[in-house]
Parts: sequence; C-alpha cells; structure tokens
Amino acid sequence: MVIVGNGALGLFLADELIERRAGSVVVVGPGGRETGASQAAGAMLGCFGETTTESLRTEASRKRFELGVAAHDRWPAVLRRLEEFSTTGAPLQVATASHVVLNSVGADLDTVNFEAMLGALDEYGKPWAELDPRDIPGYRPRTESRALRAVHLPEEGAVDARGVLGALERRIEAAGGVLVDALVQRLRGDNGTVTGVELADGHVIEAGKVVVAAGARSEALVRTMLEDFSMVPTIPGLGFAMIAKRTGGEPFRSVVRTPNRGFACGLHVVPAPHGREYYGATNRLVDHVSGVTWMADVRFLAQYAMQQLDEQVARHEVERWLAGNRPVTLDGFPLIGWLPSSGLYLMTGTYRDGFHCAPLLAVHVANELQGEAGLIDPMFGPMRRPIETRTIEWSIDEYVQHNLAAWFETGAEAAPQMTTAQIADYYRVMAHQFYDTIGIDYALGPDVLWYAQGSLLGARRVARYLHSSQGRNGSRPVPAAAGRANR
Ligand SMILES: Cc1cc2nc3c(=O)[nH]c(=O)nc-3n(C[C@H](O)[C@H](O)[C@H](O)COP(=O)(O)OP(=O)(O)OC[C@H]3O[C@@H](n4cnc5c(N)ncnc54)[C@H](O)[C@@H]3O)c2cc1C
Repeated sequence: MVIVGNGALGLFLADELIERRAGSVVVVGPGGRETGASQAAGAMLGCFGETTTESLRTEASRKRFELGVAAHDRWPAVLRRLEEFSTTGAPLQVATASHVVLNSVGADLDTVNFEAMLGALDEYGKPWAELDPRDIPGYRPRTESRALRAVHLPEEGAVDARGVLGALERRIEAAGGVLVDALVQRLRGDNGTVTGVELADGHVIEAGKVVVAAGARSEALVRTMLEDFSMVPTIPGLGFAMIAKRTGGEPFRSVVRTPNRGFACGLHVVPAPHGREYYGATNRLVDHVSGVTWMADVRFLAQYAMQQLDEQVARHEVERWLAGNRPVTLDGFPLIGWLPSSGLYLMTGTYRDGFHCAPLLAVHVANELQGEAGLIDPMFGPMRRPIETRTIEWSIDEYVQHNLAAWFETGAEAAPQMTTAQIADYYRVMAHQFYDTIGIDYALGPDVLWYAQGSLLGARRVARYLHSSQGRNGSRPVPAAAGRANR
C-alpha cells in the first residue's frame, strides 16, 4: 500500500496499518514537509477550545465536532506509544491544559464563541472553571488588552507537533515501514483501477491501494487520475506561526488562547520544549499552496502576542518561522473515503484540527482499507455534494461578524463618527453584491466567502464547481468576472 503524504494524517495512518500488520506500507512525501500543515501546527489538542456558535448548530457540524471529542480520548495512548521514539529530549505533550481568555480586542464574535464553548462543555459534561485572568501563569497582556473573563480547561493540552511527526517516522521505520523522501507526480491507473504512483523523478511505485493524504495538494493529485470527477474543492488555508525562545519573565505553562475569531483559530501561545514558545496562528484562504508569509501576518502575530498575551514577548528570540497550508474544503467538512477508482482512497479536508483528529481518522481509514466498518459518518465521503449548513442570509451575517472581528482585531480605523453598524453595513452590502453577481444558491462559510469575494480566481473556481454540481438545482451560469481583484 502507498500513502501519499507524510503529514499527521499519512503518518498516523501508516503507524496504524503497521500496528495491525496490514502488509507493506510505503509513505511518500518530502522530508522537509515544506508547505504542509502538520509541520506548522500548534498543535493544540483542542476540541472545546475550538467551539464556535456553528459547532453544534446543525447535525453535520455536530458530527464533525464529535470527531474531535472522540479523537481526544485516543491521545494518552498515542503519546505512551510514541514517547520512546522521540528524540527531542523533552516530553511530546507540551501542555496538559488550556486557558481561554475573552478580551475586548475582537468583536462580538469572541463573546458568542466563548459562550458557545461554555455551553458545549456543559452539554458534553466536560470540566471547566472560570478564574481570574491574572492567575493564569505567564499571562501578562498590556492593560488595555487584558481579558475580562477566562476559563481553565483541564483536559485540553497540546503536543509538540514536530516532535510527534519525528517520533512517528522513527516508529514506522523501526516496524519495517518505508518512508520515501520524494514528491508524487501523478497517480497511475489502468481501467479505472489504481496501480501505483509515479514520482517526480520518474520512478514508479506499484501498489494495489493508494491513499492520498497530501493535505492541500490532495485534490490536484486526485485530478491526475480523475480529471472530471466532481469533488468538493479544497482551498489552501495559509497559516503563519512562529517558535521563539523566552528570554525573560514567567513562562506559559498551558495553552493560552482566545476563542476562534475573525476567520481564524484565535490568537494562542503553546509551550514548546526547552524554554521555547509557539505563537499562532493566522489563516487566509489563498489561490495556491505556498510557503510565503505576508508581512501583515508577521505584524499581526508579533504585535498581538505582545499586546494580548505577554508584553515580554517583545524580547523573545524568534527561532523558526512556520508557514503551512490547512486543507480547507469548500463546505468546511473533511473528505474521507473511497474515490470512484478501485483501490484509491482520499483522506484530507481536516482544516484547523487535523493534527488532533489524526489518530482517530487513522483507525477509521485503516478499518475501511481492511474492509471493516468505519468509525465516522459516511456523509464526509469524497463522493458527496457539498454539505449545506446555512442559508444565504445566515452566510452573509456570519461574513459580517467575522469581518467586524477582524476589523477591530487588526486595529483598522474608521472616521470617528462612523458607527459599528455602518461598518457592518459596508460588509453586508459587499456580500450581497457578491452573491448577486456570482449567482450561486449554495451558502458559503465566512472564510470561503471572504476568499471568493476577494479573488477572481477563487470566485471562478467556487462558481464553476457549484454551477456544475448544482446545475440540477437551477443555478445560474458562471459570470465572466465575479470577484474583485485579490487583496
Ligand atoms: C499554522 C497552523 C496551525 C495549526 N494548528 C493546529 C492545532 O493547533 N491543532 C490541530 O489539530 N491542527 C492544527 N492545524 C491544522 C492541521 O495542521 C491540519 O489539519 C493537519 O495537519 C492536516 O494534516 P495532513 O496530513 O492532511 O496534511 P499536511 O500536514 O499538509 O501533510 C501533507 C503532506 O503531503 C506532502 N505532499 C504534498 N504533495 C505531495 C505529493 N505530490 N507527493 C508526496 N507528498 C506530498 C506535503 O509535503 C505534506 O508533508 C494547524 C494548521 C496550521 C497551518
């Protein structure tokens, strides 16, 4: 069996298959994992800390949320298994708890997501306690950005993502798995059956089963064999984070984060081995996978870490700049299951919590590859039409809320006499105009709407896919130029 992709999903799957003695396993992926999401991840084992008002609102999003709940329980055993293969000289688990802070730097979105998190914790019977934000170890924001509320989540920690990936590789190799440091150029098939993969240097690896777990590049790879297959598109969610050495002040001993806010996963710090700290993370949906970092994102992260987490951060020594592409699907849900080509399986679309979910998804996929019942709902299979969770009006409201959050968080300024309602109206008009121009019936999530609204390529891609998949529902044809120039 060949697994294409050496991120968290590919490696956890290989590890699971080897554990089951499921035959030979070859993982292909570039050793440096450049532009991959996993190497840039926090990696918070966040489930309730990630809650938004959307998490439990529909059946589909609840099922997605419960993937995280189920994945969470697997981590203690995963870490016990991996620890002996770690070479970092520090525990793989870098934090055992999180503190979620609610400050007023963002907008109302922070407040409603914070409240949604407390509701979810109660609904699922998970422990939490409210505390004075000043009692959070390491948390020393600037006075004007101080939190007014904070909760302690004693069961949500984080792992050293890069340490876990390294330990997985060593465990796989020790058990006889093969890691090939290369890129797959294309999938090979014969008569609708996959027969292997062709590497960039022309070498071919033959296999009766191929799992594509190449993150944000998965769709392009699938297209090398299934050109006309109508698959929910994946958009790269380019994220920036950094690892820095603390040079003074009290270190953080837990994850400290805001709720999810403004198109992203919230501002957070994660303790890292040997006196380092991870600061993350930005998120912008982009046209192409890349490893670049926008200057605006550097400013954003550096300034807000100093302002909202700890003033001492100004004197931290940045040692690593991390850029990775989250695999974001158009409907926001994972793409996991068999493709319409015998022996070809897809495992991607995990967006912002794929590291956390990887051990659970590995068990699910290994089951399916071995002809056993899977663990997750088949609704997330790649043969689906886009999952609908909102109306157009709802989509526009969400878009406005996220933009307002981003507006205030990034310190954007309007004329003093301009009210928040007027700023909201500006975004509302923009979203209405977008839907009117593009002519789709499918209601997009705020991040995808932001992307399609700001990128001509993005608008065309979204429209082309939705018109072809929804044509039967009477959508209008693709407009020639539906978006405005990229930001
Ligand atoms: C900044 C940032 C912070 C994040 N924080 C968290 C977090 O705190 N918690 C969490 O759970 N999740 C987090 N995520 C999300 C998480 O990282 C992803 O959901 C998850 O890692 C996706 O894993 P993957 O294996 O599918 O993809 P990737 O990690 O992208 O791995 C795909 C691999 O395939 C390789 N590849 C690509 N093309 C080819 C090819 N043609 N041939 C061979 N190999 C190929 C790539 O090099 C890459 O190594 C974060 C993501 C980012 C970017």
